[in-house]
Amino acid sequence: MNGEIICIGTELLLGDVLNTHSAFIARSVAPLGINIYYHTVVGDNENRLRQTVKQSLERSDIVFMTGGLGPTYDDITKNIVYSELGLTSFIDEVALQKLQSYFDKIGRPMTDNNIGQVMRTENSFFFENDFGTAPGVCVTQNGKTIIMLPGPPRELVPMVENKVMPYLMKLTDRVLYSRYLRYFGIGESALEAMLSDIMKVSVNPTVAPYVDNYEAKLRVTASSDKLENAKKSVDIMVEKLLNLTGEYCYGVDVNGLEDALVKLCTEKAVKITTAESCTGGLISERITSVPGASAVLDMALCCYANSAKIKLLGVSPLTLELFGAVSKETAREMALGALKVSAADFAVSVTGIAGPDGGTAEKPVGTVFIAVAGKDGSCNVQKLSLGTRTRSRGDIRFLASSHALKALLDAVKE
Ligand code: ATP
Ligand code: MG
Repeated sequence: MNGEIICIGTELLLGDVLNTHSAFIARSVAPLGINIYYHTVVGDNENRLRQTVKQSLERSDIVFMTGGLGPTYDDITKNIVYSELGLTSFIDEVALQKLQSYFDKIGRPMTDNNIGQVMRTENSFFFENDFGTAPGVCVTQNGKTIIMLPGPPRELVPMVENKVMPYLMKLTDRVLYSRYLRYFGIGESALEAMLSDIMKVSVNPTVAPYVDNYEAKLRVTASSDKLENAKKSVDIMVEKLLNLTGEYCYGVDVNGLEDALVKLCTEKAVKITTAESCTGGLISERITSVPGASAVLDMALCCYANSAKIKLLGVSPLTLELFGAVSKETAREMALGALKVSAADFAVSVTGIAGPDGGTAEKPVGTVFIAVAGKDGSCNVQKLSLGTRTRSRGDIRFLASSHALKALLDAVKE
């Protein structure tokens, strides 16, 4: 099946909003054997959109369209598609009633222009919108399928995942199954080099690398006519990948370092605590973003000033004077101090220079010390050089928090 994607919105053309839908849809449907040959962005302009729709109906079996489904005057997608297909639209009474009860529930009157959202044609059906008022629409005519989706990402993403994908799986007679491997401390290119032989030949399952937030992620997806077959081939591939890259992989099917950490600590009934300086609470923020963090995080201290490090963490004034706040010695005393004042089994501390100013030749911007202390008296300190020409203060702080989470994860694992 050959497909294409049309994203509608002047804000996308102007670059005010980054077009993330194209990539998301293309990646989602690829394992189903839908070949996406064109991506188009078109403004909220009737003539140009009409031309685009006409052209895509000539060359593609399936067309995904995003945006312009709302109730405002610039939301023209549906009318253009219906008229290009030569179909007459009518009000879907069931959808209208649902829309009416939604407005009743929120206590706002439904206006006439909302009714446009529940107009459809023969050979069409709606994808219900669980996060907004405009349903998605699927219309088929003369062997062509057009799927129209709402623009707001918080509506589109769940609609694709929960409504459109199941429909497409039925249409293509396939089921999909995916697993994710997460890596920290190895770049995407190094990972690809290790796996190039596998990745070149992987068609089903596919192995797709992603990078986000200085992490690498591999998505392994298989399609099959039966879920159990898809699962089996994904599991075999995951095993193969772990054999080659296991030492860098910190988690399978987890949502990031913080998620892996909270899961592991919960499993092992381990409590943790944080003592942060240059990350200013970012580590504890990331930990507490995971549901269930209350079972593992005992205390989170942010001690920015030297006086706070002395008073709350018991760092010795002499250490600060001799070695400075950004030093192996201070990091060590911060972690040990946090462990002492909390009821945790492990403590992590971070102290560093986030920049952009303030570095020295000996300790340039990006110098970060991380210590992990355990109740057994162990304390490991690492020195990191995270500064590069292009990294911002925010980048350095985020990376430092990732290293700290990884160090803590490794300690708890051991
Ligand atoms: P609404 O009811 O909000 O008008 P709609 O279906 O008409 O929904 P649009 O008005 O086209 O959708 O887009 C709503 C918002 O969704 C845009 O302002 C933009 O922020 C976001 N958006 C739209 N298309 C994309 C896209 N391709 N990628 C990322 N974000 C998008
Ligand atoms: Mg709109």
